[in-house]
Amino acid sequence: MAMNRIQFQPGLSLPAFLEQFGTEAQCEAALEKERWPQGFRCPRCGQAEHCVLGAKFRKTFQCQECRLQTSLIAGTLFQCTHLALTIWFLAIYLVSQAKTGWSALALKRLLGVSYPTASLVQHKLMQAMAERDAQYTLNGKVHVDDAYLGGELAGGKAGRGSENKVPFVAAVSLNAEGHPVYVKMAPVPAFTRKAIGDWAKADLSPGCQVFSDGLACFAGVTDAGCQHQPTIVGTRKPKDLPEFRWINTILGNLKTSLGGAYHAFDFAKYGTRYLAAFAYRFNRRFHLETLPMHLLAAAVAIGPRPESWLRLAEESC
Ligand SMILES: [Zn+2]
Repeated sequence: MAMNRIQFQPGLSLPAFLEQFGTEAQCEAALEKERWPQGFRCPRCGQAEHCVLGAKFRKTFQCQECRLQTSLIAGTLFQCTHLALTIWFLAIYLVSQAKTGWSALALKRLLGVSYPTASLVQHKLMQAMAERDAQYTLNGKVHVDDAYLGGELAGGKAGRGSENKVPFVAAVSLNAEGHPVYVKMAPVPAFTRKAIGDWAKADLSPGCQVFSDGLACFAGVTDAGCQHQPTIVGTRKPKDLPEFRWINTILGNLKTSLGGAYHAFDFAKYGTRYLAAFAYRFNRRFHLETLPMHLLAAAVAIGPRPESWLRLAEESC
């Protein structure tokens, strides 16, 4: 069964991880290999000849041609960090291996850093996950559903959900056998045709066959060049319909994840990032063992995302 293949895969054990990435030198070597698989190249002039400076704290390369100095972490998600790379790598390991995610409070204890630092590390890694998955769109047969963060989902304040209730769209692409392939989850301003059309343009490939429970706004996917096939639910609830089995299972997993690991957070501010991090993990659920290296690659590729940048991104959500 598909779910057992996920649950029983070996993953990467903590001892195996620490054997590979337990020292600063090992983490530096892994980061250097990820940044420059063919060896260092000067980012300004492309010269390979270099010498290494200041190995005391952070490895820095000096180009023999133009003398430009490039730190190992400059231009990556780790730029300007005062944390040891071993802490970052451990955070990458924890965040990538945990099906249900970690709260910043749990990360604080596990990493041995302050709460603000744990929270910042977590948000930077979630941002790397979000930006990596934003490069892809769903194809083919796609089931969509409307849901709320903070509504039925755990984490909302009982009876006072409205001020922390954020509408979002959940979508899953299915293969020919009807099994889930990839998911996308994104907050929307409201369940309107325009909002769904805008979402579909970003997250779906034109030509997708979109199946919904018939909520009128989902006709908006046709504005993105997709076909819409509503299922009239009538008096039955969508969860009772076999065709919506996977989207309901995935929303159930999300509920567990949010309830178990994060508890309540500011859904309007951070919803995009939390949902994208959940989708990122789901989309790589068969590759637990290599997931830390994939997340490292995403962290190198994304570039610096300082706290001020993250805050601006949160405000524009
Ligand atoms: Zn140079």
